[in-house]
Amino acid sequence: MEVRFKKPTIDLVVPCYNEEDGLTHFVEETNKIISTLPGYDFNYILINDGSKDKTYLVIKNLASTYSNIKYISLSRNFGKEAAMYAGLRNTTGDYVIVMDSDLQHPPSLFPQFLEAMQEGYDCCQCMRSSRVGESKIHSAFSRTFYRLSNKITDVKMPHGAVDYRIMRRQVVDSILELCEVQRFTKGIFSWVGFNTKWIPYENVAREIGATKWSFWGLFKYAIDGITAFSVAPLRFIAFLGFTISSLAFLYMLVVIIQTLIFGKDLPGYATTISISLFIGGITEFSIGILGEYIGRIYMEAKDRPVYICSKTNIEDFKTAKAPLNTQEATPAKED
Ligand code: UDP
Ligand code: MG
Repeated sequence: MEVRFKKPTIDLVVPCYNEEDGLTHFVEETNKIISTLPGYDFNYILINDGSKDKTYLVIKNLASTYSNIKYISLSRNFGKEAAMYAGLRNTTGDYVIVMDSDLQHPPSLFPQFLEAMQEGYDCCQCMRSSRVGESKIHSAFSRTFYRLSNKITDVKMPHGAVDYRIMRRQVVDSILELCEVQRFTKGIFSWVGFNTKWIPYENVAREIGATKWSFWGLFKYAIDGITAFSVAPLRFIAFLGFTISSLAFLYMLVVIIQTLIFGKDLPGYATTISISLFIGGITEFSIGILGEYIGRIYMEAKDRPVYICSKTNIEDFKTAKAPLNTQEATPAKED
């Protein structure tokens, strides 16, 4: 009698925003690698993140050509984080790979990913060993961000960590248990923990299309990353306040003693102005930091759905608020 084993399934979660030119090439290239891995069943979950070009039509076209392509088309551009979340919530595979759709995350690393799974790791993530194809300012900014963020937050991310990774079902379910609305996925990946293997890879320049990041976008992303995982800036302003009031107290003693010894004295216009400007600046800065956190509380308190889908070909599609079957998130049983 023939015994048939079910092949392990792998879901590829791929956010796509204005990728009409490169998407078909991406699927073709990825399929080449998939065909060398016959022991696994691969499924695509392409998320059209409110693209302004013909990405949706390209995706529909691909879905009618390949039966393993599922898609989720969001009602507007919600951002890569939300798109990844929409994809992750709709995965069912034993393993999930999250990757970009511009071939900057080379599918040729799949065999290494699967090897890591066989070695018993829970996840395997890529880190850039070079920053080819990236502007100097982008890479300097990103280096500073990682240094700062690793120092002041609980999540430790190696410099160059990218959102290209494979994870076991249990890790995906754990990630989905974090239901914050403002998602900083790179940090969430680290925060959930699990045994992670890091593999370095050569960054490849984007061949088709253009990056969606602006400098301001990256700056906002960095602030989100830090405020989402740390209250160190709040502690910093408390420390600043304490230091300045201690110095002010010492200066007050000096002024009192001077007045007692030398009598009334009226110079000090420059000092007064400098101090009030300085204190004014610090106060504004502190209010700004407080505001950052209050803004985050405000957005979380609204509890809006992370994404809204307008079209999909997934049969039992899960909306952002639909309850999940988190049974699998229970710890792996060991003897
Ligand atoms: N992306 C997205 N929504 C956005 C911006 C980007 O889904 O609002 C997708 C994009 O299609 C790509 C991935 O996120 O698959 C990474 O984007 P990009 O290549 O612009 O970023 P970079 O590689 O320059 O960091
Ligand atoms: Mg890219």
